[in-house]
Amino acid sequence: MDLILRDARLPGDAATSVDIGIEDGKIAAIATDLAAEGETLDVAGRLVTPGFVETHIHLDKSCILDRCSDQGGDITGAIAEVARAKGSFTPEDVYARGRRTVEKCILQGTTHMRTQLEVDPVVGLRGFEGVLQLVDDYRWAIDIEICVFPQEGLLNNPGTEELMVEAMRRGARVVGGAPYTDSDPHGQIDRVFAIAREFDADIDMHLDLSNDPTTLDLDYVCELAERYGRGGRTAIGHVTKLAYAEPGTFADAARRLADSGVALTVLPSTDLFLMGRDQACGQSRGVTHAHRLLGYGVNCSLSTNNVLNPFTPFGDCSLVRMANLNANICHVGAAHDVVECFNMVTTRAARLMNIDGYGLEAGMSADLAVLDCDSPYAAVSELAPVLYAFKRGRRTMTRPAAQIHRPA
Ligand SMILES: [Zn+2]
Repeated sequence: MDLILRDARLPGDAATSVDIGIEDGKIAAIATDLAAEGETLDVAGRLVTPGFVETHIHLDKSCILDRCSDQGGDITGAIAEVARAKGSFTPEDVYARGRRTVEKCILQGTTHMRTQLEVDPVVGLRGFEGVLQLVDDYRWAIDIEICVFPQEGLLNNPGTEELMVEAMRRGARVVGGAPYTDSDPHGQIDRVFAIAREFDADIDMHLDLSNDPTTLDLDYVCELAERYGRGGRTAIGHVTKLAYAEPGTFADAARRLADSGVALTVLPSTDLFLMGRDQACGQSRGVTHAHRLLGYGVNCSLSTNNVLNPFTPFGDCSLVRMANLNANICHVGAAHDVVECFNMVTTRAARLMNIDGYGLEAGMSADLAVLDCDSPYAAVSELAPVLYAFKRGRRTMTRPAAQIHRPA
């Protein structure tokens, strides 16, 4: 074997210690007392999990707080502030800031990422070019796929669709959207599905980001996903309107998503930061309740979204922290539900992105993280740090376990 992780605990079984043999970048065998030779790392009974999966993050506009003035905090203000900052983005600048964010993700055990990427006539393809270089340069640690989208509208912003198509030709793999900023939201959704069909690409749109659930664009997205056979390949993010929906409306939407195979990503930090600002007291959380959707059979993920920008002026890129944050916001405490928070940043997130070769079984890619705990429940409830990560069997980071220094 190229590498053997000894004395590991797997996510489904905290009681049994196993060894994981890795060869040619893949998991070759998992067994108790594995008879194998090779470089060995004793993980001392700690949790080994498939790497974390960031389904929705914005590398191109991360780390721009120092050049933004209005930090008033609502959605319109954040979009306007980033729109102003984008004018001076260069590929080199995007690369330098994106690199800082990608390296934080690697240090948190993230091995797969879908990054949202803005194009429009102001920024052109400069953001795309900076991130495309990051994709290449960090392939040794993380698989990054680009989802190109029109943050400031598509039909109202001539030239944007041509740029989206050009980005798809040059390596973007997913088509995104933000219909709530468009003069014709359904028209934008039509165009997003058309581009996705042209390039046989998955879809991942920002959707239904407000506190008014009286109309939901998700109905139209589900309708098109069914019409064009895109179930399992369409995801939507935010959908904060469902945090404000009456139980009947919520149930109808959940069944619609489940039936059409449309997955949903909750972005707890951003939604918590942006929503509820119009209320003088008892401010709402504005975070859609993922666990209730899981109960209807909808697949969900949790993700970071924005890092150190006007949409979210925080960010350590820890998906364990995001899972814990979600548990806090949504009153999640039962062990099974806490574990679902972990699944939504690992296995469920991988399923949303249709990642091949993901999982803890022989034959799967050796994309792994070792946490300083023995179970997913402990990871989320105690915010366990990541001590090692591996990409295709090669170690990509190490964080020494904390020690207490007692008096002699
Ligand atoms: Zn986003």
